[in-house]
Amino acid sequence: MYIAKRFRKLNFACSKVSTLIRQYSTKMKKTVLLLLLLPMFMFGNTIWSKTGHRVTGQIAQNHLKGKTKRALNDLLEGHSLAFVSTYGDDIKADRAYNKYSPWHYVNYPLGISYKDSEKSKDGDIITAIEECKAIIKNKNNSREDRIFHLKMLVHLIGDLHQPMHASREEDKGGNDIQVQWFGQGSNLHRVWDQNLIESYGMTYTELAHELDKVSKKEVKKMQEGTIYDWVDESHQICGELYDSVKVGEKLGYQYAYNYNDLLFEQLQKGGLRLAKVLNDLFE
Ligand SMILES: [Zn+2]
Repeated sequence: MYIAKRFRKLNFACSKVSTLIRQYSTKMKKTVLLLLLLPMFMFGNTIWSKTGHRVTGQIAQNHLKGKTKRALNDLLEGHSLAFVSTYGDDIKADRAYNKYSPWHYVNYPLGISYKDSEKSKDGDIITAIEECKAIIKNKNNSREDRIFHLKMLVHLIGDLHQPMHASREEDKGGNDIQVQWFGQGSNLHRVWDQNLIESYGMTYTELAHELDKVSKKEVKKMQEGTIYDWVDESHQICGELYDSVKVGEKLGYQYAYNYNDLLFEQLQKGGLRLAKVLNDLFE
């Protein structure tokens, strides 16, 4: 009788422990899931992938003039453009930098030019680039201030060449256009920020090496124009990309095959034009 009672008690204790473990593990699973998803919510979907920025930085590095190289070497303390190219996104983790969020993109109606568009009072990628250039150029500014704006400039010229960063307001630059990428939920903005380039599976050094094989004549041609021409060019491409998907469409190999060349061209242009902006700045 006593043994049976003890056994029942033990059994009861065991089932309680296992319930607790179950509850705990459910909680743990939820916490782990939340931690995994957190970066998505924190950064939204507005980050031209690290690979994209580094390719742009690496290609630019290959086209710097001697004077520019020396100036950059001093300000960036020996670090490469590829290394500092992601800084603009890295600081998004710190709320103190929230005011720089509108710097990464611009939205205006399709079919008109940036110059004719109504400007945001919070600034946009073009006003940001102009501000960075002015601060870097003026040697009376503190070294710290010039370095901060140099790192931002390197980042923003990259963003300028991701077509969905020069987009339209009503769907938040394609963020509201839901699609699937190889069976995973995504959206048009993220396809161009990350999915396409990441699915290609090459490192930034490999990509930069493969892409940067254009003739001097082509380099000159790609470097033509100003940031006002470049933003309108991205904006026009963006208009075409809206027609490249239907809401809810399952994208994969075919889409990558159709658009990889455009992606590569934008990376190449971004790199060459970043070199031009920097060469002009430090000449
Ligand atoms: Zn950015």
